[in-house]
Amino acid sequence: MDNIVVQKYGGTSVGSPEKIMRVADRILATQAQGKKLVVIVSAMGDSTDDLIKLAKAIDPNPQGREYDALISTGEAVSASLMAIAIKAKGNDAISLSGRQAGVYTEDNHLKARILDVKPDRIRKELNLGKVVIVTGFQGVNSFDDVTTIGRGGSDTSAVVIAAALKAERCEIYTDVDGVYTANPNLIKDARKLSVVSYDEMLEMASLGAQVLHPRSVEGAKAYGIELHVKSSYNFNEGTIVKEVSTMEIKNPVTGVAYDENTAKISIQGLPDQPGTAGDLFKRLADSKVNVDMIVQSNQVNHKNSIAFTVNDDDFSKAIEITESYAKEIKAERVIFDKDIAKVSIIGVGMVSSPGVAADMFSMLGKAGINIDLISTSEIKVSCILAKKDTHKAVKILHDGFELSKG
Ligand code: ADP
Ligand code: ASP
Ligand code: MG
Repeated sequence: MDNIVVQKYGGTSVGSPEKIMRVADRILATQAQGKKLVVIVSAMGDSTDDLIKLAKAIDPNPQGREYDALISTGEAVSASLMAIAIKAKGNDAISLSGRQAGVYTEDNHLKARILDVKPDRIRKELNLGKVVIVTGFQGVNSFDDVTTIGRGGSDTSAVVIAAALKAERCEIYTDVDGVYTANPNLIKDARKLSVVSYDEMLEMASLGAQVLHPRSVEGAKAYGIELHVKSSYNFNEGTIVKEVSTMEIKNPVTGVAYDENTAKISIQGLPDQPGTAGDLFKRLADSKVNVDMIVQSNQVNHKNSIAFTVNDDDFSKAIEITESYAKEIKAERVIFDKDIAKVSIIGVGMVSSPGVAADMFSMLGKAGINIDLISTSEIKVSCILAKKDTHKAVKILHDGFELSKG
């Protein structure tokens, strides 16, 4: 079906009745250009955080079905309010839940992957001339229960729905007017990127640049969908996320990202025998703990140690699993550190520019910032450092690699 435009509006953009009315005007302006509009909305403002706080006031470690049933409700509020706003302005609209919109996910909760989208209902409503508003962040599993797809997941809802509808555009409207060389709310001279490649965007998003949910970028790349990241407050040119030929890349570093929601766990004095790393990380994976950096030290006296990082959300589960494993295999001790952060530089141009990692380490070293763990890939270098140094490190690297200059 042609001329379908998918737009996603984030939490801040729909944070009050006034903002919802303003977004409704923007939606109707696009519809007036002859487009069929499917709009994905996030929960209003911080309402998902508020729902999480409510659940945790009752059980510090809420799980599964009921937790998802609760935290998915924020999107139901904003979707119906948006439909009410459009109707109040004299046009027709309908709000659909993830289930009604045909968004099918894995059975597990909280970070369920979207497996399929069957957009028959969306199509039917579009053909009746309605603006279709879909709740982001949620789907339904094979038990017919509501699932959520991970914090910030509404971007991913938008991408998979755009793919299923073969939409002509997928626009992500947020509170900044594009993807910058670093978080523009922290780095005042960060530069807006007019275009960024899928691969770089995926790294930036995975390494903490909140502006897009990592799986949305993964999905956009897989389906070949260009993402247009723009502000819901103005009409400035935004950023296009798409395939970019490396020939067009000039700078080795495109951006700096940081993640303060990370924790380090070390298991020390592990018997140096085959299978230990496999056993530990299999247990973590089976419990859906996403392990990030892994560093194993050289063995001394037939013992070694492994340090790894996890997201704060997974910390309690990860430490419980690691401690029980340590006891079983008689490792000497498990220690952890939650006062850390990960700061990363990202750029496809690094592949052909040796020495970028060394430059990064020297810049941090000169500023007196100690590096704890390091991990590299072809297009990124990440350092774990003390949380108190995060903002300073981002600024130093942004200045040092002259990212404001372009
Ligand atoms: P939404 O509620 O619209 O989904 P998010 O808060 O998830 O918005 O994402 C937008 C925020 O991402 C911005 O307010 C900004 O602080 C943050 N951000 C972090 N890194 C970047 C970056 N490199 N470029 C743009 N925004 C970034
Ligand atoms: N409301 C959800 C969250 O706060 C999803 C989203 O905003 O994309 O994580
Ligand atoms: Mg977001």
